[in-house]
Amino acid sequence: MKVNLKDMTIKELKSFVSSLGLEPYRAKQISRWLYKKRVSDFSFMTDLSKGVRELLSEKAKIDSLKLVKVEESKDGTKKYLFELEDGNRIESVFIPEERWNTLCVSTQVGCPAGCKFCLTAKDGFTRNLTTSEIVDQYIQVQRDVGEERRISNVVFMGMGEPLLNFDNVKRAVEIMTDKDMIDLSKRKITISTVGIVPGIKRMAKELNKVKLAVSLHATTDAVRDFLVPLNRRYPISEIMKALREYPIDNNRRIMIEYVMLKGVNDSIKDAHRLAKLVKGIPVKVNLIPFNPYPGAPFEPTPREGIEEFQRVLWSYNIATFIRDSRGQDISAACGMLRTKEKSLAFR
Ligand code: SAH
Repeated sequence: MKVNLKDMTIKELKSFVSSLGLEPYRAKQISRWLYKKRVSDFSFMTDLSKGVRELLSEKAKIDSLKLVKVEESKDGTKKYLFELEDGNRIESVFIPEERWNTLCVSTQVGCPAGCKFCLTAKDGFTRNLTTSEIVDQYIQVQRDVGEERRISNVVFMGMGEPLLNFDNVKRAVEIMTDKDMIDLSKRKITISTVGIVPGIKRMAKELNKVKLAVSLHATTDAVRDFLVPLNRRYPISEIMKALREYPIDNNRRIMIEYVMLKGVNDSIKDAHRLAKLVKGIPVKVNLIPFNPYPGAPFEPTPREGIEEFQRVLWSYNIATFIRDSRGQDISAACGMLRTKEKSLAFR
């Protein structure tokens, strides 16, 4: 069995090259080829001797994803469908913006959370992604979009629940932020969770320099139990307690995500309750217009309703934004990523 180099932190890469009898500085050389040049084959690593390249290719491999399909939205968003070595499929989304480019990565095949309004949930849960399968989404998308469009931000908001795959997500963040590897700033990485309280507590200890986003979506346990079944395990009060205890640097905020579902969670009362829930916690609220799909059991809140909700939160001095829905025409928007390449129209 060959090992995958993108599963390794720089420390592990050093001990791996040592185990092959090579000098430890080779690790940085290899890392540069993997993450700066993004080569897909050992033969490109021209500052390594032929013998070393052959040895490496006997023991290790580079890519873990096969790019199956790329779709581009009329707003420039690009959706990537990848096949894993076991035949499973995942999607990633590249979102170009004026001053930065964001990559949305998946962390699991499918998702165990079962949120009622999310299409990914309908595929059920298959398995966690490995570290290299997460990291390779970045590498392959950056390869495709080219050097002049550098990915500056990574959001763990694709398929899956990142905090239920903590170890691999953490290693992927380490590789993405190591100066000898991908070298992104920790502050430009966001991990979004449905509210896995033990995961939030671990993040507080082990990953607190990256941004935390929490998909709240409701202001009472009755509504949240229904929308987000995991709420029965981790109810709103426990999530809020974990957020109150979360260490936050100056000028930084926890993002609260709130998908706006007409007549379900979007009343003015909800807005006031939400303001009270987050009182004293440095948050910014991201209101997400519901992305509808054929057969969806919900309808989006009309724009005026979302804006009214926003104004109530503003009246409490809570920074509140309405999330742009990007890539809707190619089913790349929030909650629309699938493991199975099915046309929505035929569901
Ligand atoms: N499991 C993590 C990461 C997914 S992030 C989490 O729940 O936070 C994707 C975001 O899109 C979540 O906030 C999710 O609740 C939201 N979402 C899911 N389906 C949606 C839909 N149809 N329209 C808008 N947002 C949706």
